Amino acid sequence: MAIVLKLADMTATPQSRSALLDTAWCAERAGDVFTALQSQLPVAVTVTKVAEVVDVAATAQGRFGFACSRCAEAAELVLTAQFAHHFVGPGQLDAGDDDEISAFDADPDVSEHDGVHLQLDDLLIEYLLLELPRAPLCQPECKGLCPQCGVNFNASSCTCKPLSDAMSPWAKLAAVQVPPNRQVPPNQQVPPNRQVPPNQQVPPNQQVPPTPRS
Ligand SMILES: [Zn+2]
Ligand SMILES: [Zn+2]
Repeated sequence: MAIVLKLADMTATPQSRSALLDTAWCAERAGDVFTALQSQLPVAVTVTKVAEVVDVAATAQGRFGFACSRCAEAAELVLTAQFAHHFVGPGQLDAGDDDEISAFDADPDVSEHDGVHLQLDDLLIEYLLLELPRAPLCQPECKGLCPQCGVNFNASSCTCKPLSDAMSPWAKLAAVQVPPNRQVPPNQQVPPNRQVPPNQQVPPNQQVPPTPRS
């Protein structure tokens, strides 16, 4: 059942009420990751109306199932979404007169009501979708799976060699040895006393500038 509030019932004194939000949207909008574990989510709504402006504060809470994005184990999360939204009167957003652009126009937390009622379902769903994590984990410290044998590191371990060594771009260099005859012989190395001492090096700002071409 849709959550619809009548403007005629609203007052300048905050009014609270509870409602239920169907979760059919979850399969359609987030079904690749999440399954709603309840057919309806409880929603607490507080509404205040001053002149044509309606302020809505809502809290929705629900349980969602998912497969951990690291270890693929089934897990659950309890999502609590809280939001505040403001509705202005019909025609108040981008009224079409170019000289006066309302500050509300670009604000995603502001929209228009139709002067008769508010339909909150779509709004609640948008806020809930924003709160659902993109890569949910079974636990913050989930250790994931061994990329080679697939063992779940949260539950056990394996004897696979870490891939990081074998797959490092430097791994091949370990096998390359410089042949002895390519090494600089000791008698060709610059003796320490022939090296320019730091205080005799020309500072960059005293170097001769390149001759300008005529
Ligand atoms: Zn996990
Ligand atoms: Zn392994």
